[in-house]
Amino acid sequence: MSAYESLLTGKPGENMFLLGNEAIARGAIEAGVAVATTYPGTPSSEVGDILYEIGAGAGMKFEFSVNEKVAMESAFAASLAGLKSFVFMKHVGLNVASDVLMSISYTGTRGPMVIMTADDPSMFSSQNEQDNRHYAHFAHVPLIEPSNPQEAKEFLKVAFEISEMESLPVIFRTTTRISHMRGIVTLSAVTTPNLKGRFKKGGRSFVSLPSNAYGFKDELVAKMGRIGAHDFQGILNRSEGDHESRIGIITSGEAYNVTRDVLDKHQINVEVLKLGITNPMPEKTTREFLSRHGKIIVVEEVDPIIESDVRAIADAGFPEVTIHGKMDGTIPMSHETSPNTLEESLAEMLGFNVADRKPFIQGNELPPRPPVLCAGCPHRATYFAVKRAVKMLKLNDPIYSSDIGCYSLGNYEPFSEADIMLEMGSSVGVGTGFTRVTDQRIISFIGDSTFFHSGIPALVNAVNNNSRMLVVIMDNDVTAMTGRQPNPGTPVSLTAGRKKNQSIENIVRSLGIDSVKTVDPYNLKETLGAVMDGLKNEGVSVVIAKRECAILRDNRMRKEGLEVKYHVVTEKCSSCYNCVENFACPALSVSNGKVTIDPVLCDGCGVCAQPYVCPFKAIEVTSIEN
Ligand code: SF4
Ligand code: SF4
Repeated sequence: MSAYESLLTGKPGENMFLLGNEAIARGAIEAGVAVATTYPGTPSSEVGDILYEIGAGAGMKFEFSVNEKVAMESAFAASLAGLKSFVFMKHVGLNVASDVLMSISYTGTRGPMVIMTADDPSMFSSQNEQDNRHYAHFAHVPLIEPSNPQEAKEFLKVAFEISEMESLPVIFRTTTRISHMRGIVTLSAVTTPNLKGRFKKGGRSFVSLPSNAYGFKDELVAKMGRIGAHDFQGILNRSEGDHESRIGIITSGEAYNVTRDVLDKHQINVEVLKLGITNPMPEKTTREFLSRHGKIIVVEEVDPIIESDVRAIADAGFPEVTIHGKMDGTIPMSHETSPNTLEESLAEMLGFNVADRKPFIQGNELPPRPPVLCAGCPHRATYFAVKRAVKMLKLNDPIYSSDIGCYSLGNYEPFSEADIMLEMGSSVGVGTGFTRVTDQRIISFIGDSTFFHSGIPALVNAVNNNSRMLVVIMDNDVTAMTGRQPNPGTPVSLTAGRKKNQSIENIVRSLGIDSVKTVDPYNLKETLGAVMDGLKNEGVSVVIAKRECAILRDNRMRKEGLEVKYHVVTEKCSSCYNCVENFACPALSVSNGKVTIDPVLCDGCGVCAQPYVCPFKAIEVTSIEN
C-alpha cells in the first residue's frame, strides 16, 4: 500500500496535516484531473511522486515526461481532447516549456488546463530565483497564488474553473515555502475524472499560422479583460484588519504569511488586502483599497510585480496615495521575504522598534552540513577516475562543463570538476562551444535524466560540428536528485507499467559516435582506462559510467538481505590519507591520526579498497551476510 493512499481514501470533511504539495495532489484528485504530466524538479517533485503512486487509483493518467516542454504539450493535447489536464514543474522548468506556453495562451484550450510552477525564492535548490509570475504577464494568462496547503487545494480547483470559463491555461504558482509547509487541510469530495477524450475537428482552429494567431491575440486580450472584471472577493482575494487604517498592505502567497507574522507580533492592526489572483490584477478591488488608505505597502516575492500594477492603478486615479515596496527600496529586491528582513523594512513606517528583537523561531542552531555526494555514490568514483586520468595524461588546464543533477556536487573539493554549470543539458552545448575557441580539453558531465531531457540535441550538435570533447554520461538509472523518479533509461523492473527502457549507449551510437564505452564506475581501473582513451580521441567520445544510485542499491540490498561494510586494518594503514583527502567518502574520517570507516555510513561499495585509492591495501571488507 502506498504511503500516500490516505490522500486517495480521505473522506470529505476529514482533516489531514498535509504538505503543500500533498494538498495540491489531493486538489487535483478532488478537481477530477484526467491527465497529469511533469518533469520532476524541487520544489514541485512530491506532487509527481504522489500522482505516480496513486493517480491511477483516482482514475487519472499520469506521465513523467522527458522534459517540461513535452509535459506541457502532452497536457495540452489532453485539454484539446476536452479533458481536464494538469502540468507541473519547478520554476526553471517553465523556461523549457515557455515555447509551448506562449502559443497555447493564444490558441486557448478546450478542457480546463492548469500549469503549476513551483518557484524557489532564495534558491534553496535552484540556479536562480526567477519570479515566474512574469510568465503570466508575458503570456497573458491568469495567475493564482495560494498561501497555505488548504488554499493550495482549494485555489487549484478555482484555477480549473477559471480555465474552463475562458478556455485559457491558468498558471498556479507556489514557492518552496508553500509547497513544503505543512498545515491542516479539510478534504472535500473527490471527482471521478472523465477519460473519454475526443479531439473534435472543425470549429475553432488550433493551428498557429500567422493568419490565425493575429485573431487569437485579440481574443486573448478580451478573455483577460473579462477575467479582470471579476473581483474574486472571498474566493481568491480577501481583505482583513482595520478598514480605516491610514496604511494598507497588499500582499500574496508566502509574503502574506510573513506579513501576518510581523503584524501579529507587533500587534499592528492595518488593513491587509490578500490577493489570490495577481494576474489580471483585480482592478476594482485594488481601486477600492487605494481609496481607503493614504499609504500602501506592497509585500511580495520576488520581483515587484504587484507593486508595478498597483503603482499604475494609483498613477491613473489616486496620485495622493504613496506606494512603498521594492521599487523605492523599502523592501529588498532579492531573495524570499523573511520575517526578520520584513520586520526591519516595516518598522519605521508601522512605528515599532526592532532594536530588542526576539527571533521568530527559537531553538538550537543546526550544525552546518555542506552538500556532499552520498557514501557509495558512483559519481564519486567517476570524478576520481577522471581526475586521475587528467593527471596521468598531463592535460594542461582542461575545462569541466557540468550540468544539473546530484553530480553537480563534483564542483566541490577534492574534485573541483565543474567550471561551468548553467541549466539542464548545458554541459554538452557549452562544452561544444569551447571546442571552437580554445585548444583546452573539454570534459562534459551529464546525468542520464538530463541526457534524455535536453542533452541529446546538444550531442547531435557536437557530432555535427566535429567537436573534440569527452562527454561523461553518469547513468545511475533514475532522476536521483529530485527523489529517484524514473526516466526513459530506468530499468523496467523499477517502473510502474513500463514495457521497455531506452539504451543510452544505443542512442549515442545512433548519432554516429564510435568512441563509446559503458563502464562500471565502481571499477576504477576500467573507468580510468575508458576516460583516458576518450581523452586521446580526436572527435566526440562518450564514456557512460553506469551504476545504480547508492540509495537504490541500499534499498535493493536490504531487500536481498545483503549487508557489506568495509573497515581499515590499522596495522596496514600508512596514514597517507589518500582515501580521505582525494576520495572523500563521508564514511571515512581521521581519528587520532588514523583513518577509520564509520560502519553506519559505509555503503560497502568497495571503491576505497582499490589500489588507486588505498595503495597500501589497508581497507578490507568486513562482512557479507545473506
Ligand atoms: S566502501 Fe569505502 S568508499 Fe564505499 S561507502 Fe564504504 S567507506 Fe565509502
Ligand atoms: S589510503 Fe589506505 S593507507 Fe592511506 S590513509 Fe587511507 S586507509 Fe590508510
